[in-house]
Amino acid sequence: MSYIGRFAPSPSGLLHFGSLIAALGSYFQAKAMQGKWLVRIEDIDPPREMPGAASAILKTLEQYGLYWDGEVVYQSQRHHLYQAQIEEWLKSGQAYYCQCSRKQIKESGGYYLGTCRNLGLTNAQHCSVRLRMDNPVESFEDLKRGEMIIPHALAHEDFIIKRRDGLFAYNLAVVIDDIEQGVTEVVRGADLIEPTGRQISLYKTLNQTPIRYLHLPLAVDAEGNKFSKQNHATAIDNNNPKPAIMKAMSFLGFDLPKDFMSCTIEEMMDWGCKNWCLTQLPEEIKIIP
Ligand code: GLU
Repeated sequence: MSYIGRFAPSPSGLLHFGSLIAALGSYFQAKAMQGKWLVRIEDIDPPREMPGAASAILKTLEQYGLYWDGEVVYQSQRHHLYQAQIEEWLKSGQAYYCQCSRKQIKESGGYYLGTCRNLGLTNAQHCSVRLRMDNPVESFEDLKRGEMIIPHALAHEDFIIKRRDGLFAYNLAVVIDDIEQGVTEVVRGADLIEPTGRQISLYKTLNQTPIRYLHLPLAVDAEGNKFSKQNHATAIDNNNPKPAIMKAMSFLGFDLPKDFMSCTIEEMMDWGCKNWCLTQLPEEIKIIP
C-alpha cells in the first residue's frame, strides 16, 4: 500500500515555529517514503478561528517549498459526513445525548462516568453527543517513542463526538477525514499523543484497521511554554523562510551541510527528504531560545 501522510493545521492563527516542525516532519516522512502529502484545514471551530488564517497558512506553506498533493480539504465543508456518522450511531445506540455540564464532570472527579448513558435522552437541545466506549485503547505503538500508555479512566470514557454548542469534536472529524482521505500514517506534534487512543478506538468502532502514528518532539520556548496559538507564538516569516527552515530542520535532528544557507528552498526540501531518518529525531523537548 502506498504512503499517504498529511498536515492538518487549525486556522486559529498563523503558522508558528511549532507548526512548522509538524509540517516539515510530516512532509519529509511522506516524501522519504515516496508518498503523498496532503493538507487539510481543520476549520471546525469558528469561534477560535482567525479570519484569513487558512489562506495565510497555505501561502506560507508554498513560500516554504511545502507543496501538497491533491486538493486542500476543508473540514467546514464536510459537516454532512460527520453528522451522518453521528446519526447512524445515535440510531444504533452506539452514541447518545448527554446533558452533563463540564462543571458536573469536574465535580465527579474529572472523568465522565456514563451518567446519561442509559437515560435515553432524546432532546438534542443543550446536549452533547457521546460515543459509548466499546473499544477502549489503553496503549498504542508510537513509531519513535514505542509503547505509549493511556490512563485507564481516559481510555474508558464515553467521549464527546458533538459538543453541546453544536460543533463537531476534533477526534471525530480527524478520524473520519483520515479514513476518507486514505491516510496511512499520522505525523504530528507530541501534544496530540493523549487523544490518539480515542482516535484509534474510533478506527475500531468504524471497523477500520488503525494506522501508524509518529509524534514529533515538542519545541518549547525559554520559559518552557510550547509554541502554540494559545500561547501567542509568533508567526514564522513568510518573506524570509530560510532561517526558520534551517532552525526547524536542526531541531528535527538534521546535521545540515555548511553551505546550506546558499541552497534554494527547493534544494533544502529535496535534501531534507533524502536525508530524513527517524533515528535522528531528538528524544524529547528541546528549548528553542
Ligand atoms: N488540527 C490540529 C492542530 O492544529 C492537528 C490535528 C492532527 O494533526 O491530528 O493542532
